Amino acid sequence: MQKTLALVAHDHKKQELIEWSLQHKAVLEKHKLVATGTTGGLLTEALQLPVHRFKSGPLGGDQQIGALIAEGNLDVLFFFWDPLNPAPHDPDVKALLRLCSVWNLPVACNLSTADMLITSPLFDNPAYKRKMPGY
Ligand code: PGA
Repeated sequence: MQKTLALVAHDHKKQELIEWSLQHKAVLEKHKLVATGTTGGLLTEALQLPVHRFKSGPLGGDQQIGALIAEGNLDVLFFFWDPLNPAPHDPDVKALLRLCSVWNLPVACNLSTADMLITSPLFDNPAYKRKMPGY
C-alpha cells in the first residue's frame, strides 16, 4: 500500500538525509515522497525520483507539512532537525513535532530512528493501521 512520506532536513543534516535516502531508495521509491523546498530539490537530484516540493522550511514549508498531517494526508515523517544550531523558524519546527504527537504520526528525528522505522515489519504491513486519536 502506497504511503505518503515527508522528508525534511535542516542544513547541517541534509547530507545525512541524502545518504540515508540513497541507502533506502528501494523502499522510498514505492511511496509518494514530499519534502520542504531545498531538501526536496536535493532528494530529487540524488534519488532521481519525483518528490513533491513544498516551500522551504523557513518560508512555511514545515507548516505545509503540518497541514498535511492535520488533514490526514501524511503517513510518516522523516525529520532530520538540527539540535545544535538555532533556526529562524524554530516555532514551526516545534509546531510540526507537536502535530506528530497530536495525530500519533510516526516520526523519525535522527538517523538510527529513521533506520529502524523504515525497516520495521510494520512499515510495509497494510494490516497495520495507526490508532487515530478521537478528539
Ligand atoms: P529546506 O527546509 O528543506 O527548504 O531547507 C527545511 C527546514 O528548515 O525545515
